[in-house]
Amino acid sequence: PVPVYSMPNTTVPCQYRTGKTLGSGTYAIVKEAIHIKTGKYYACKVINKKLMEGREHMVRNEIAVLKRISSGNPNIVTLHDYFETSHNLYLCFDLCTGGELFDRICAKGNYYEADAAALVRTILTAVSYIHAAGIVHRDLKPENLLFRTPAEDADIMIADFGLSRIMEEEKLSLLTEICGTPGYMAPEIFMKTGHSKPVDVWAMGVVTYFLLAGYTPFDRDTPKAEMEAIIAGDYKCIRARKYWANVSEEARDFVRACLTIDPERRPTRRGWLAATTPHFVPDPDSGSP
Ligand code: ADP
Ligand code: MG
Repeated sequence: PVPVYSMPNTTVPCQYRTGKTLGSGTYAIVKEAIHIKTGKYYACKVINKKLMEGREHMVRNEIAVLKRISSGNPNIVTLHDYFETSHNLYLCFDLCTGGELFDRICAKGNYYEADAAALVRTILTAVSYIHAAGIVHRDLKPENLLFRTPAEDADIMIADFGLSRIMEEEKLSLLTEICGTPGYMAPEIFMKTGHSKPVDVWAMGVVTYFLLAGYTPFDRDTPKAEMEAIIAGDYKCIRARKYWANVSEEARDFVRACLTIDPERRPTRRGWLAATTPHFVPDPDSGSP
């Protein structure tokens, strides 16, 4: 029979032995896996077919996107292999042993601005590459940003293309479904007015805010209040002395620019930030037309 996902059965699952759980998300559990023949370690995303019933296209899409971009930028996780059994789908990635950015922010409280700027610059360069390839990620958040090794200065990697979309045109209003993680979702997603690449820039504004301040901008008591705050662009006091005292005006400007309500006025790949905050995050495209 033809497999549901038409995955090439290049590898049989028993070539790997799975170990401890590395993390989990909405649809998947990610486990450490050892390739028995080579002794190499990977991260294996295990997706339960029953849970995904009716949403099979999401996994097919994730694979298609990863194939398109995985090897083109050093800060995007590499899909190494994929296969299925009767119950599960398996996506094998290069293992990131340094954990999630989320846990590092929590452990530190917040990042020094210089360190935050370096991380944000690297991530934005990768986002810029993703956008140039016609992809919008749609789920950028510290849980999906992983460190390649436990080292303090480890490379940061963009993971989880499960909600990403391939968009061939530069049009703004193509996607209308509500998806993402509420605290990182741009106003236009809630408004259902159509969204595209600028949602990733908004999410990076939230991530940068979190890095610098140690708390997220739209945290409210109820989901409704949170959504209203996002739609109004009402982020919590960027002037609060206690948390923002050591943050430069340029870094604040960068966050404000990313958290612009109108997606068309948000910084873009080309003009990213060059206009607003050259010192905080220099234009990753500078030097190329
Ligand atoms: P979901 O779509 O369910 O959110 P993710 O792809 O985000 O699945 O993976 C869930 C979690 O598993 C991540 O947040 C991370 O903690 C861990 N993880 C994912 N990929 C890797 C990897 N390549 N190396 C190490 N851990 C990973
Ligand atoms: Mg995830």
